[in-house]
Amino acid sequence: MAKHEFQTEVGQLLKLMTHSLYSNKEIFIRELVSNASDAIDKLEYLKLTDEKLKGFETTPQINIKIDEEDKSLTISDNGIGMNEADLISSLGTIAKSGTKSFIESLSGDAKKDSKLIGQFGVGFYSVFMVADRVDVISKRAGEDIAHKWSSDGEGSYDLAPCIKDENGTVIYIKLKEEEVNDYTSKYKIKEVVKKYSNHIAYPIFMNFREEVENEETKEKTMESKREQINEATALWTQSKSSLKEDDYNQFYKTISHDSENPLLYVHTKAEGVSEYTTLFYIPSKAPMDMYRVDFQPGVKLYVKRVFITDSEKELLPTYLRFVRGIIDSEDLPLNVSRELLQENKVMANIKQSSIKKVLSEIKKLSKDEEKYKTFIKEYNRPLKEGVYQDYVNKDAILELVRYKSTNDSEKMTSLAEYKERAESEQKAIYYIIGADEKVLRNSPLLESYKKNNIEVLILDDKEIDEIITPSIGKYQDWDLKDITACEAPKTEQTEEEKKEIDEKFASIVEKIKNILGTEVKDVRTTNRLSDSPSCVVKDSSDPMASMAHMFRMMGQEMPESAPILEINPEHKIVQALNGCADDAMIEDISFLLLDQAKISEGMELKDPIGFAKRLSNIMAKAL
Ligand code: ADP
Repeated sequence: MAKHEFQTEVGQLLKLMTHSLYSNKEIFIRELVSNASDAIDKLEYLKLTDEKLKGFETTPQINIKIDEEDKSLTISDNGIGMNEADLISSLGTIAKSGTKSFIESLSGDAKKDSKLIGQFGVGFYSVFMVADRVDVISKRAGEDIAHKWSSDGEGSYDLAPCIKDENGTVIYIKLKEEEVNDYTSKYKIKEVVKKYSNHIAYPIFMNFREEVENEETKEKTMESKREQINEATALWTQSKSSLKEDDYNQFYKTISHDSENPLLYVHTKAEGVSEYTTLFYIPSKAPMDMYRVDFQPGVKLYVKRVFITDSEKELLPTYLRFVRGIIDSEDLPLNVSRELLQENKVMANIKQSSIKKVLSEIKKLSKDEEKYKTFIKEYNRPLKEGVYQDYVNKDAILELVRYKSTNDSEKMTSLAEYKERAESEQKAIYYIIGADEKVLRNSPLLESYKKNNIEVLILDDKEIDEIITPSIGKYQDWDLKDITACEAPKTEQTEEEKKEIDEKFASIVEKIKNILGTEVKDVRTTNRLSDSPSCVVKDSSDPMASMAHMFRMMGQEMPESAPILEINPEHKIVQALNGCADDAMIEDISFLLLDQAKISEGMELKDPIGFAKRLSNIMAKAL
């Protein structure tokens, strides 16, 4: 027998599990049953596809044995089983990503935290909420030696070879004294299994002993009994009319490990050229690993009810990676190679229809303001990814994303609503991008839009908006325009008047340009400002700007090109500067006009010390 230490994270997790997460302990049954069902799924697949296991005979089932006297509960399956290496890697370490962040994300609030268990593939360890000791006896299908893993959940486990005839896994749970009543109760076990595991596709039997009275002799004896306690039909194969919302919700919890109900579900049976069933769910909270490259996909593929894979990330496009559920095809070959799935025509067809289905359900959800708010809070960002990932469905996705806007600081808007609100002469959708909503809302660049009653979208998810928005191009027939790079909106100024102003300010503009040198691309007068003396804008005709956009799409940083400084000829400062003869003053103010415009846009100053010094100079003079 060998003693093994748990990986640090497992130790931490176990501590949490046993000392702080007391509420909702019963979910350990759901977790173990779900593992058992997955193990049977895996074996069923290998029986069909692996030469070594072809012809291997088992009748898939899960058994739960109650032993009051022994104060134990045993859950066993005849699935794939684990060999020594599997036991060490599966039940001694946490292989999956996200678990560290799981531990970090725990709030210390037991009730909330217990809801998170399982989302990270830490399901098995939940058994230590009720166990003093756990023995896992397992034999991998097709192998000869079985192993026993044993632990009290306190830092280490023992591992030794042992005898076991059948393949599969037996989990023996020595119950804590205070849990014996609950988990040796037939009613409790039945209730919990019905609640969480009714639609596991394999039969779950409860094994127990019961006192029986002989009718003639009246003698009482204990007899072994066995009773199937779940329906054992894959939920998605049943007709929609026979299923209630509650059935769907419970099944969702079984496959997702989530304890909250989903935001929506959609069950589709397609018949005709291609025959398949899909059942999709959108969780009410985004999966914790949604923004990790190594996220766990949430959709499982079945062929004629046989589980094929749950690790294929492209069953749905990555922007829909938060969707949970099942695809079950009648047409794919059972031995479909996981590698070739992506090139498979049947699969491609199912994928396209599934995307359309999910998007149209989201569209329906958008009619429910409250629910849609939750949806947007969780999933606006991945949807935005879809706008540039999925050219075919771009228009549909554009209807679903929401934006902050100058129209209403509380409520987000759709592009359709924006268009509807716009005045009749308007022919474009205006937006501004940055990292800070407050800075954006106060940007001087908005002044002329406010004055002209033109709504501007406030895109403060800079990282992604900067990449995606320029690639949208048009929404219906309207261009999307970045206000930092486009002309100011409608103006009452005539060409003549503009010429006159330009001439009047030509010499000061030239002076500022010389002073600022390479800090700016150009200096010019503007009529886009009312209260501010200056602003900075991008040069829309600069080929470097679209280059920078391409680089960002590939995940590379590009240095920003120098901005154009625009000055407001209506402003006191600019007017006074025009007649100023003090060269030192002109120099300080030129830099200050640039720096304060940059600050207003939330940009970093290259030379903050210089800025402070110039400001002090001017203050000294003003006093
Ligand atoms: P998850 O099920 O989310 O992966 P668990 O902690 O519940 O996380 O289980 C860890 C791993 O242990 C599983 O992925 C599986 O490989 C293995 N495992 C657990 N229970 C069984 C079982 N009954 N039969 C075979 N393997 C199992």
